[in-house]
Amino acid sequence: MVTFRKAYEYALSALETAGIENSRNESMWLFEHFFGRDFRMMTDTERDTTADEEKSTEFISAVKKRTEGEPLQYLLGEWEFYGYPFLVGEGVLIPRQDTETIIEVVKSLEIPTPKIVDLCSGSGCIAITLSKETDAARITAVEKYDGAMKYLERNVKLNNSDIAVVRGDVLDADTVSAVGGCDIIVCNPPYLTQRDMEELQDEVKREPETALFGGNDGLDFYRKITALWKDSLSDGGYMVYEIGAGQENDVAQIFRENGFDDIEFTQDLCKIIRVVSARKK
Ligand code: GLN
Repeated sequence: MVTFRKAYEYALSALETAGIENSRNESMWLFEHFFGRDFRMMTDTERDTTADEEKSTEFISAVKKRTEGEPLQYLLGEWEFYGYPFLVGEGVLIPRQDTETIIEVVKSLEIPTPKIVDLCSGSGCIAITLSKETDAARITAVEKYDGAMKYLERNVKLNNSDIAVVRGDVLDADTVSAVGGCDIIVCNPPYLTQRDMEELQDEVKREPETALFGGNDGLDFYRKITALWKDSLSDGGYMVYEIGAGQENDVAQIFRENGFDDIEFTQDLCKIIRVVSARKK
């Protein structure tokens, strides 16, 4: 039997001891998620009442998992991207704020009612957000893995989105034919290098390696996707990639080798070049 106060204090001290940076906020968010109440808004009397036993057990077990390196987002089961809610959990990459840069870039492209394809869609955060934020005629999200697909489909429903979802490997020519022509291709592929993979934060280690690892130099997917998908883009169409820090010149070179021009770099909120886009001649 624990009181709300004891439960909250337990979380705060466990997260602090585990060295979690944002432990005060995380304790509050977990508290709110499991008890459905905002600890800050509770009176002293309320804080000293006994919390529901089942909820307390779940809360304490989530706090333990958090101290063992489970990402907060997986424990909450939901995370926001560009103001929209996305269900997340084991098997799917957690939407990052950096990735909102892709949305800004696509919104700035001057193609009326484009057909858009989102490759390596994962949770669907890019495709679904674009369906809300642009006047696209059609958006198709392509995803290979079961683990991510489960979330992608649920996120389409959660957001009442009208995108089409295609199950397929973006490196397989059959997927290219199944998807057909388009005006804009967006993609946040796996782009971490072998070295990056060896230095992953504990939380990121819990995310699917298939969403992170881009081969020895991190560039495998840019090389293969650009070569394989360029013919399905209309002339004057755009390819828009999220990249890792410092990959812009290599990705620009891949674009040039494949006959693209108007190569542009866009920074994220931390002033890191996060998106490279290019136009098909
Ligand atoms: N942005 C992710 C990270 O830094 C990597 C995601 C990706 O490879 N597309 O962990």
